[in-house]
Amino acid sequence: MDDDVYRAYARKRPRLPVNVSYGTPWVIVARRPENSSRPTWALKMMDDYALAYHRSKTIMATGDYEDIAIVSRRKLFKPPVGLMWDDTRFSWCGRCRRPTMFREMYKHPMMRHFAAVSLDESRRCYYCAAREILAGRFMMRF
Ligand SMILES: [Zn+2]
Repeated sequence: MDDDVYRAYARKRPRLPVNVSYGTPWVIVARRPENSSRPTWALKMMDDYALAYHRSKTIMATGDYEDIAIVSRRKLFKPPVGLMWDDTRFSWCGRCRRPTMFREMYKHPMMRHFAAVSLDESRRCYYCAAREILAGRFMMRF
């Protein structure tokens, strides 16, 4: 996103409570163009946000990907104060930590890593597969 508020937000290391910072609390999710001969989605688990941020810049510089996000696996984040976006098209995702789109979906590479999957609420973030009821609508109450 080409926005000063968002750029500063993405650059700053988010705080994670100690009890959820073990292991790999972040995942870099990168998407190749649809016409790529390689798989569309690439995932890389990361233990440190600063390393993930620098790694994502290196990944984007390859030119093989058209979008990238550092997705939180353990905590939902609200939008930074002052961030404006087209809310007629996009909703905030507390996991991707950016405006995104929620769609009906039952299959997504990120769903491979879920311990349990239920189909009771099928609208999910097209990028990280978080449920809209949790990472989208719930987050906007704060
Ligand atoms: Zn998301």
